[in-house]
Amino acid sequence: MRTLGVLGGMSWESTVTYYQLLNRGVRDRLGGLHSAPLLLHSVDFAQIAAQQKAGEWDAAGRVLAEAARGLEGAGATALLLATNTMHKVAAAIEQAVDIPLLHIGDAVGQALQARGIKHAALLGTRFIMQEDFYRERLDRRFGIQVRVPDAEAMVEIDRVIFQELCVGRFQSEARAFYLDQLAQLKAGGAQAAILSCTEIGLLLEGCESPLPLVDSAERHVAMGLEWMLADF
Ligand code: GLU
Repeated sequence: MRTLGVLGGMSWESTVTYYQLLNRGVRDRLGGLHSAPLLLHSVDFAQIAAQQKAGEWDAAGRVLAEAARGLEGAGATALLLATNTMHKVAAAIEQAVDIPLLHIGDAVGQALQARGIKHAALLGTRFIMQEDFYRERLDRRFGIQVRVPDAEAMVEIDRVIFQELCVGRFQSEARAFYLDQLAQLKAGGAQAAILSCTEIGLLLEGCESPLPLVDSAERHVAMGLEWMLADF
């Protein structure tokens, strides 16, 4: 198997999901006592979240580029950046290393394309929902048009991510609010919903959703597994 480097801690709640799903994926494929050869660099999310808020993306990019170099030096053959939002600085990471960064947007785009979906609801942080870097990649590479909630709802979705999900609070009010947003986006023409924040899958686990869900963390892990198990 090829060793994978994970840039995690953003938040660690969802990095746990990555760790579990990568190991389960290897066990399911190879059986017995097989588990995933992984290197994890888990950051202090308080620093990264403060840099996001202050618009200090270059500084955050330098932190992650340095961590990526460390993972490469320790033997990682490819990288998973275990957050959608920080893919805003994907280029800074890619420039710092010679190994590939397996892009979460491509993992999501491939899953939607395989299902023939052209119009998708998009839930994530305000950076993901409002800025171009993620939406534009889905459109340009996969022909997917996204629909986002209205401005007021985006504020609440973003608040829940940082004040609740990233600190391990998964509450029924937030769940109901997210599902209501998905119902509205379905009425507006969305064929599926992209959970473009790696913690939302934890909130909606086991829920009956008005739209089929494409969970960015799950799709990203599947991409990582394909890389690790390429020789099997
Ligand atoms: N994990 C989230 C994401 O997938 C939000 C945390 C962050 O801002 O990095 O975007």
